[in-house]
Amino acid sequence: MYNHDRELGMHRRITRRDFIDGVAASATGIAAGGLLGGCGSNGGLPNPQTYPPATTGLWGQDNSSYAVMHKVRDDAFWSSAPAVRRTGEHYDAVIVGAGMSGLASAYFYRQQRPNARILIVEIRRDFGGHAGRNEFRIGNRVLLSNAGTQSMESPSEYRPSAQRLVRELGIDVGRFYKYFDQHRYDGLTTGVFFNRAAFGRDYFVAGAYRDPWERVFGGAPLGDRAKHDLIRIHTERVDYLPEMSASEKVAYLSRISYEKFILEHAKCDRGVLPYLSDRPYDLFGTGIEVVSAYDCYNSGDDYGMEYPGFQGMDLGHGTGTWRRAKPEPYIFHFPDGNASIARMLVRSLVPGAIPGSTMEDVVLAPCDYTKLDRPDNQVRIRLRSTVVRVQHRGAPASARDVEIAYVAGNELCSVTANHCILANWHVVSKLVAPELPKKQKHYLAYCVKEPYVYTHVALTNWRSFETLGVNQILAPTSYHYFTMLDYPVDMGGYQSPQTPDDPMILFMLRCPTKYGLPPREQYRAGRWELFNTPFETIERNIRTQLAAMLAGAGFDPAAEIAGITVNRWSHGYAYEYYKTLWEHDPVGERPCDLAKKPFGRISIANSDSSGAAFTDTAIDEGYRAVQEQLRLD
Ligand SMILES: Cc1cc2nc3c(=O)[nH]c(=O)nc-3n(C[C@H](O)[C@H](O)[C@H](O)COP(=O)(O)OP(=O)(O)OC[C@H]3O[C@@H](n4cnc5c(N)ncnc54)[C@H](O)[C@@H]3O)c2cc1C
Repeated sequence: MYNHDRELGMHRRITRRDFIDGVAASATGIAAGGLLGGCGSNGGLPNPQTYPPATTGLWGQDNSSYAVMHKVRDDAFWSSAPAVRRTGEHYDAVIVGAGMSGLASAYFYRQQRPNARILIVEIRRDFGGHAGRNEFRIGNRVLLSNAGTQSMESPSEYRPSAQRLVRELGIDVGRFYKYFDQHRYDGLTTGVFFNRAAFGRDYFVAGAYRDPWERVFGGAPLGDRAKHDLIRIHTERVDYLPEMSASEKVAYLSRISYEKFILEHAKCDRGVLPYLSDRPYDLFGTGIEVVSAYDCYNSGDDYGMEYPGFQGMDLGHGTGTWRRAKPEPYIFHFPDGNASIARMLVRSLVPGAIPGSTMEDVVLAPCDYTKLDRPDNQVRIRLRSTVVRVQHRGAPASARDVEIAYVAGNELCSVTANHCILANWHVVSKLVAPELPKKQKHYLAYCVKEPYVYTHVALTNWRSFETLGVNQILAPTSYHYFTMLDYPVDMGGYQSPQTPDDPMILFMLRCPTKYGLPPREQYRAGRWELFNTPFETIERNIRTQLAAMLAGAGFDPAAEIAGITVNRWSHGYAYEYYKTLWEHDPVGERPCDLAKKPFGRISIANSDSSGAAFTDTAIDEGYRAVQEQLRLD
């Protein structure tokens, strides 16, 4: 048991960016939007020492990316704002947000107006939004991973605009069958870690989903009744709703939580709950108390862990199946996740910024950030710049252009454009577009994004995983509830770790929730928790958890952890209406449909507009927003 910071390795040198970007930034207010530079200068070009994807410590939505918008939210910005400096820059379109939706909007706009001049304005030091990239250098080896958006989910089901964009960028999804080694971890299994705080003692077992459940739960620190019930609901083929037809079961299971299903229908002891409660975190952002039993059955997760209890229930797909099979395997993964798609978009928008031309050579291509915002670019990407106001010049119905004000460094600047696309989040659109009708602002505010933490830990080797016989670990109720070895993808000269002696990136997933609250309240509470947790606390939790989980293999956190990047996505997944007990089958238009209505020369993109947190929906919404604006010309 590791009790001391020194044994955990807390004294090892790791960048603690939240101190610099958090404490200092929030204290200085306006300067926090970009510590250097000003209007038209990319908010200060990145220091080569801090190549954005190589950032370690707290990353994702770090404190500096909030500071200005939080002042706007709190009505504390305009009272002390400096005078707006009008840069005189005029564009055909200004796009707010350089995430997947904003980059795709620029792509579609330029495709239909080849001579258009476009400016994309982005708060963060990097483009891509959730689709960001993590780079680690361990010895002479570079390891890549996805800072957020992990994979293309079922690309054969993408709608035409997203399919076309992917194809035109040169992405042939069929090649992932060759690049993603679906058998690299054959022989390794899913481990389960029961922690002392929740279960009374630390206990690790390998072999879940492979070995008999009697063996998996046999030695676990669970009460006899809970142990018996967990084994039972994983193995028995019982229809717990025998009096209902398949369609009645589906309707009923859609109205009750999975928690209620296993307690009241499968008759489990409450002692099973700590083991199962956080299972939906990955896809739903909440626990089993607010996710419907049918959604649990139907959705599963992307890591191969199913919800027990449905084996004997015919829910329209026959018995014995645990859920409807997905149309494609979960393998459409670049070494940096969907960051490669964002990088390919930037390569197409800003020639020369990222060399190469194929889906393979983008993987190792460096980005020259100094090229993103040059005056002679047809498309400019201005990082470290927070848009604070978007307003028509004149009456919205007849105005010919829009003025966009943003904070860069210590300056408040403005540009004008014929069209403006808000590809930022709905909650931001409500704050920065004062002219929008009150009702529309109400709908924009409805979207409360789900918070997530995607932590990456660079290890000098992964021998402990090999020794324990696992490639992923489920850790119910632990700080990070899921841990796995990074995906084995080799392409474009990038080689993923091969042997256990190679350095490895671990992915650890945290979803901050507050049991029992309605989902939107849980998301707000989780965001508040993240905002108030310093990196040091997260680092200590990571080291303590890894030391405990891997203790059986003699893992030494002080020696074997080479780097940590905590990608904090406080504003993560778009609010998804279909997936909680609170929002079933909304009748008519959903709040997100009403929120995204165009207003004069302003259109609203972003995945929030679709009520679905996916790459393709972010692209589709960009396409729609561009069509709305081009129709005005
Ligand atoms: C952790 C995580 C994992 C995910 N994994 C997947 C996955 O595997 N597959 C999948 O399909 N989808 C995944 N998603 C969903 C993902 O949200 C979408 O795929 C998509 O990338 C969202 O793009 P977006 O442009 O709509 O939003 P974002 O990526 O959030 O981009 C919006 C941008 O606007 C910027 N911005 C906000 N306010 C302002 C302002 N005032 N001024 C300037 N800029 C501003 C933000 O900084 C941000 O960069 C994941 C999401 C998260 C959070």
